[in-house]
Amino acid sequence: MTARISHWIDGAVVEGTSGRSGVVYNPATGEEAATVDFASVEDVDTAVAAAKAALTGWRATSLGRRAEVMFHMRELVDANRKEIASLLTAEHGKVLSDALGEVARGLENIEFACGIPNMLKGGYSEQAATGVDVYSIRQPLGVVAGITPFNFPAMVPMWMFANALACGNTFLLKPSEKDPSASLLMAELLAKAGLPPGCFNVVQGDKVAVDRLLEHPDVAAISFVGSTPIARYIYETGTANGKRVQALGGAKNHMLVLPDADLDSAADAAVSAGYGSAGERCMAISVVLAVDTIADELVGKIAERIPAVKVGPGSEPDNEMGPLITREHRDKVSGYVEGAAPAGATIVVDGRDGAPAEGFFLNPTLLDHVQPGMPAYEDEIFGPVLSVVRVRSYDEGLELINANPYGNGTAIFTRDGGAARQFQFDVNVGMVGINVPIPVPVSYYSFGGWKESLFGDTHMYGPEGVNFYTRGKVVTSRWPDPHTSAVDLGFPQNR
Ligand code: NAD
Repeated sequence: MTARISHWIDGAVVEGTSGRSGVVYNPATGEEAATVDFASVEDVDTAVAAAKAALTGWRATSLGRRAEVMFHMRELVDANRKEIASLLTAEHGKVLSDALGEVARGLENIEFACGIPNMLKGGYSEQAATGVDVYSIRQPLGVVAGITPFNFPAMVPMWMFANALACGNTFLLKPSEKDPSASLLMAELLAKAGLPPGCFNVVQGDKVAVDRLLEHPDVAAISFVGSTPIARYIYETGTANGKRVQALGGAKNHMLVLPDADLDSAADAAVSAGYGSAGERCMAISVVLAVDTIADELVGKIAERIPAVKVGPGSEPDNEMGPLITREHRDKVSGYVEGAAPAGATIVVDGRDGAPAEGFFLNPTLLDHVQPGMPAYEDEIFGPVLSVVRVRSYDEGLELINANPYGNGTAIFTRDGGAARQFQFDVNVGMVGINVPIPVPVSYYSFGGWKESLFGDTHMYGPEGVNFYTRGKVVTSRWPDPHTSAVDLGFPQNR
């Protein structure tokens, strides 16, 4: 009998009532590993009601206590790194070292949230007018929801719930139905950390659950991370229903390699950032823009590194790249390799050759002479397929990046500080790496792309996350000396 993965509502596992469910696979073997309940509208309503009931107590809980819960959670996630990582490997397929990296980068956000008392300090102006003081405070929004993608089942929820809870909101998570188990483990850890029941809830499911969250009158805000078409839908529907929404979408990240770059480092970076996590990262490099004069040499260096990448089940410690998430997705990604040559690209390394037969594997693939207009260039492939586009100059490379509809991450490889600085100034992308291929900001900055990689105004986590999960209030106060009280019907002035 396969395991059944259910919801977490009001501090306990709650089995769904919808009768609908999905299959969770082990992508390294292709076997069905578990089923996951899909929430009905009623299941979502029960979870929202629990979050609403918990809100009164939690938002009144002292900042010190909220921080203390985050400190406990920090210790628990730290102590359970391996357990969380092995769940990620089992359901997502990513190799253990990558899964541990995911946990570590998620944990940073809990560490940031431990400092929430400092982040929620307001401003205070004494004597803004005679006898009048003005101060600002930030208050939680209420019940907030997070909808997360399959590729970071632990980190992306931590991007959201750490700040949301520390700010005094209660939270509902709708994780990806493809790898739902990490959400339940995090719920258990939060409970052990001292978070009261109802403050953190998990509803498993699909569009039914998401749509109910989008329209539920008691949900104040939605954070979303996933593909661009769904991000746009979430943003448009959520805001139309009066909610605050941040919706992070897909990506097509370009790495521009100038002729003066250290080509060995650039090739190492392209391989690591192109094939890490089998290319299923929103910050993966999927296009290398190689200036003509060094393109042959760079392609050679990338190609010679590929055979050394060890592909296989993530549970084996030596493996460096695991399978893709589903058979359907693997087949879609292979379709881009299939279509590359007829479209005019050159297949330098064909990942369909020698891929493990069991499970959803595709080996690292390198395409050269890719050009705008080809499907491999235009689409977010989200797999281990790296495309090289040859450009004549920095300017041509920059133009391509800025013309791309996505604007999540980008990187420049060069030894020229002036060129790098100009790039940072010119490029229309939210996260920029200078000789750093995956520039995911540390947790005390904020994460977010531009253009079709983000719908909404607020980036995720860090200071912008705190702003997203709180509203400002400004208080103007007078404690008058009774002797100075008088009637004055004019508009209040300060001088
Ligand atoms: P997805 O958009 O298919 O799913 C994301 C979430 O939305 C899941 O919880 C899913 O259940 C839900 N969903 C899917 N279809 C829906 C629909 N029609 N209506 C309502 N809800 C729906 O994304 P995915 O395949 O899980 O994740 C991969 C995508 O996420 C890639 O495009 C990747 O670039 C993107 N991503 C972006 C970032 C970022 O920070 N910008 C980070 C990670 C992943």
